[in-house]
Amino acid sequence: MKKHDLNPESLMMTYGYKPELSEGAIKCPIFQTSTFVFKTAEEGKTFFELAYGLREKSPKEELGLIYSRINNPNLEILENRLCLWDKAEDCAVFESGMSAISTVLLEFLTPGDVLVYSNPLYGGTDHFIKHFLTKIGVHTVGVMPGQSVDEVIKMIEDSGKADRLAMIYLETPANPTNTIVDIEKYSLIAKKYSTEQRKTLLAVDNTYMGPLWQHPLQCGADLVLYSATKYIGGHSDLIAGAVLGNAELMVRVKTLRTFLGNMISPHTAWLLLRSLETLKVRMDQQTQNAQVIVDFLNNHPKIKKVYYLGLLKEGTETYETYKKQCSAPGAMVSFDIIGGEKEAFMFLNNLQLIKLAVSLGSTESLAEHPKTMTHAGVEEQQRQQMNITDQLVRISIGVEHSKDLILDLEQALEKVNIAVTMER
Ligand SMILES: *Cc1c(COP(=O)(O)O)cnc(C)c1O
Repeated sequence: MKKHDLNPESLMMTYGYKPELSEGAIKCPIFQTSTFVFKTAEEGKTFFELAYGLREKSPKEELGLIYSRINNPNLEILENRLCLWDKAEDCAVFESGMSAISTVLLEFLTPGDVLVYSNPLYGGTDHFIKHFLTKIGVHTVGVMPGQSVDEVIKMIEDSGKADRLAMIYLETPANPTNTIVDIEKYSLIAKKYSTEQRKTLLAVDNTYMGPLWQHPLQCGADLVLYSATKYIGGHSDLIAGAVLGNAELMVRVKTLRTFLGNMISPHTAWLLLRSLETLKVRMDQQTQNAQVIVDFLNNHPKIKKVYYLGLLKEGTETYETYKKQCSAPGAMVSFDIIGGEKEAFMFLNNLQLIKLAVSLGSTESLAEHPKTMTHAGVEEQQRQQMNITDQLVRISIGVEHSKDLILDLEQALEKVNIAVTMER
């Protein structure tokens, strides 16, 4: 069998691990070690020459193990396996999604540069861009959902610093309303502003759909970022992040990671190796469940509107974008309940099987109220524009039996006593 014939899910149990290097153990052990013993001083010298870029790597040479802030087998095997899903050249894993995101932004942006970003963004990313990057002199331009390419180009031109456009940063579909952004269109904007000396990079946070249902690198993105806390980890038991891209960009990301020291721990990497073995079956089940649940919610008299990619109308621009870049509608569902905060809270407080918690992508279903929880820090006017209102509830669908989930939703909605007639 040739390697490239195999699908990623077939390789998640074995790829990149050599049992003969670990006493024949079928599973990769946890390399819970800070440092590695060199056979000779000469060997240590050659490893460091490579680690510090003092000489070129010879064709078959791999970086020898030095110190767990620089490299460690659990991290390397995890990175190699993550590359398979996105067909990426290289990957770097981090201690959190936020450390992956902030490291990329810090590495590729310098004071005076322009950053264009899509709204809404994950709250932590939004905070880092608005409160930290602006403080170090990065000029930021936020794009609202639905703005056309021409409008975006006008905003870039109006900034008066179009020649300093260093990065476009997207999140699609965006949290919490599943707003979709056309990655390919933005890759053309990035191309338009790239020069011989400096490429304008396109980075995409793919946490909501990845690494199974959307592959931004294949749509023209240069970097793809993940909170591995979500689908990749998938069991609500760890915090981690990842960045993937071509070798040239990833050397820079990994070098900054070495000096910030925000790499993942061997134990967390090992947990993620275990998670990856079931990634495909988990995510398949989650999206299957979500589609059944959306059907139920969409026909419920106490629900005004459901936001889900599977409900996009054929013939619309967003539908075309969805068809082009996603292979499934995902497992994140939001909806407006009739009423306001009181009714939304009544619903949330009455859920039994579905847990009231933030985060997403896990085996258990989770529900939350974006306006007062995950998006509490976003300006009210912006929240209004993005439909993040008192009525909005967000659910992450897990792997439970869909009938049980529907029963839970049904009984919780029953307990919401509202004058249903007025609004619908
Ligand atoms: C959770 C999340 C993050 C942040 O990841 P952490 O692992 O919590 O640091 C970033 N982006 C998105 C879309 C997320 O959902």
